Amino acid sequence: MFGRSPRKINNTRYYEVLGVTKNASLDELKKAYMNTATKNHPHYGGDPQKFKELAQAYEVLSDPEKRDIYDQYGEDALKEGMGGGAGAHNPFDIFEQFFGGGGFGGGSSGGRRQKHGEDVVHTLKVSLEDLYNGTFKKLSLSRNRLCPKCSGKGTKSGASATCYGCQGSGMRVGVRLIGPGMIQRMLHVCTVCEGTGEVIIDKDKCSQCKRNKVTQEKKVLEVFVEKGMQHGEKIVFPGEADEAPDTVTGDIVFVLELKEHPKFKRKYDDLYVEHTLSLTESLCGFQFALTHLDGRELLIKSNPGEVIKPGQSKAINDEGMPHHQRPFMKGRLYIKFNVEFPDSGVLSPDQCRHLEAILPPRTSTRMTDMELDECEETTIYDVNIEDEMRRKQQQEAYEDEVARPSVQCAQQ
Ligand SMILES: [Zn+2]
Ligand SMILES: [Zn+2]
Repeated sequence: MFGRSPRKINNTRYYEVLGVTKNASLDELKKAYMNTATKNHPHYGGDPQKFKELAQAYEVLSDPEKRDIYDQYGEDALKEGMGGGAGAHNPFDIFEQFFGGGGFGGGSSGGRRQKHGEDVVHTLKVSLEDLYNGTFKKLSLSRNRLCPKCSGKGTKSGASATCYGCQGSGMRVGVRLIGPGMIQRMLHVCTVCEGTGEVIIDKDKCSQCKRNKVTQEKKVLEVFVEKGMQHGEKIVFPGEADEAPDTVTGDIVFVLELKEHPKFKRKYDDLYVEHTLSLTESLCGFQFALTHLDGRELLIKSNPGEVIKPGQSKAINDEGMPHHQRPFMKGRLYIKFNVEFPDSGVLSPDQCRHLEAILPPRTSTRMTDMELDECEETTIYDVNIEDEMRRKQQQEAYEDEVARPSVQCAQQ
């Protein structure tokens, strides 16, 4: 009876802690852990030490290798380093992995579903000068960051706020027996979290974020607008949008919006500018300086003897917009000429005779009295042709509407 027994090893405590037999199956272990761990969760007044022990016991017994070592040599063997040691993990992590991991199937750790945070889109107004020369813009934004104190858990203890009862959904499926072998499934509001999906008791709330999990942060973003970028082009700062727990942070996206330029218009890599010449300049030659988007003065001049007609265009190579990502390549600069004629009454009959002597001869021949007699008299007057066309369009639109009455009503 009193024979030399080997040093007493304790290889039953973990089973006792979980309340299972020594030959409990993995399923039984899981059920046992779930039942006891929820009852002993510190959030709901449970004993943290007991909660930790449960996690430890479960971690060891659910791992065949560790369980083997435990059964043979006891707890101390694990503590001494065989099989990786016991209690290496945060008990909350084990708990969360258990409840957040989607139930009992598979059992693979990790693989938590993550939401995708929304991208934050800002409009960034830029001038044509900005796009020609490239520029830096500093933008100060305030955004949500996961609370650094609690790593976005909202709790002092580091436990997840997600309600274990409903896994954060706020609802639970209940089963009711309504007859022999007949059950009814019902959805009801989770009683643990009262439907909020979260539980953080006052005692455990994070002192920095007050269980909000996030804090506001001001950040200055430096946006580099590259030479040759286009209106509508996006500059993306990946993962800089608002952070939220269990969420892949969205991007901050700046969409370039080109402000209209008083002088230059842009189409792809080309620039368009209009210039008005006086009648004298159009006939006798001109020269002027055109200030470019980088401040350079371009000398624009006509060739000797050249006459510029109203609406005529000319182009200069390599003075257009820089090509994005190949800014040494540039488009063309197109110049469209308008010609300003003198106002009515400026020229005296005498000056007109002088001009007529210089200018090319009239194309219309003088009419005879008989030809004149055959013509009908007319009255011509000034109009603004653009206004006339606009009025026509409005009239047409109105008539279209009247012609198609209540088609939309009939369809509804
Ligand atoms: Zn709940
Ligand atoms: Zn916090």
